Amino acid sequence: MEGAAEGSGVVGSADAVAQKERVVTEEEWLQKWKTGRTGFHKEQGHPLLQKYLDILLNGRSGLRIFFPLCGKAVEMKWLADMGHRVVGVEISEQALKEFFAEHGLPYREEPVPGTSGAKMLQSMSGNISLYCCSIYDLSSAIVGKFDAVWDRGALVAVNPCDRERYASLMISLMEKSASYLLVTVLYDPNKHKGPPFYVPESEIKSLFGNHCEIKCLQKANDFSDRHREWGLDYFLEVLYILKFVCDKIN
Ligand code: SAH
Repeated sequence: MEGAAEGSGVVGSADAVAQKERVVTEEEWLQKWKTGRTGFHKEQGHPLLQKYLDILLNGRSGLRIFFPLCGKAVEMKWLADMGHRVVGVEISEQALKEFFAEHGLPYREEPVPGTSGAKMLQSMSGNISLYCCSIYDLSSAIVGKFDAVWDRGALVAVNPCDRERYASLMISLMEKSASYLLVTVLYDPNKHKGPPFYVPESEIKSLFGNHCEIKCLQKANDFSDRHREWGLDYFLEVLYILKFVCDKIN
């Protein structure tokens, strides 16, 4: 369903106002994990990452790749198996433990210096490091900078009032010439309160546009029974590639 929806007047930026005040607390996310309300998790991994992996890697090998709000995304294992170093952050310890258990990966736990209550779960081989804390507790002093990012279920899961803070943090974690695959969702925000939240293209541009080139790669139909139960009649995923460029800083 390439090229559909946006531009064809399905929703406009003004509709995003419907979700502006909505806040999901950390406790609510932890409860979702506890009670198994994790319909966002894709056991088979995400087809758009498979399809556009070459664009993300851009011929590079041995990258440091960041997974913000990672849940137990199986793509972390894929990329580590390809020889990249993967770093994730997630508030739910349960999610991180399930990740290691489901892939049969032994891991060790370490405290994160200077961040009380935070810990890092690291595969014994050292190539997957998952921080158990809020993303807002991280900085480049703690996690370093990244060559690539897979942002699926992350920007769209951040509370609308925290989007600028999230984007500034992500920008501060980018190496020069980093590439960033961003998946957003497109549906009628008057019919579902989120998450995932609807983030219009105009907002992607205002959040990141001063620091990178932004290109929409695909709009893909992702409508399922889950979305019908939410009261929706269409649901698309929109994939962008953000290319950070050294001299595009205002
Ligand atoms: N990216 C994953 C998970 C998406 S759901 C995937 O594609 O499957 C969003 C995840 O963010 C949840 O697992 C939730 O527990 C986590 N989360 C929510 N707020 C967070 C925060 N401030 N810091 C870190 N993780 C957070």
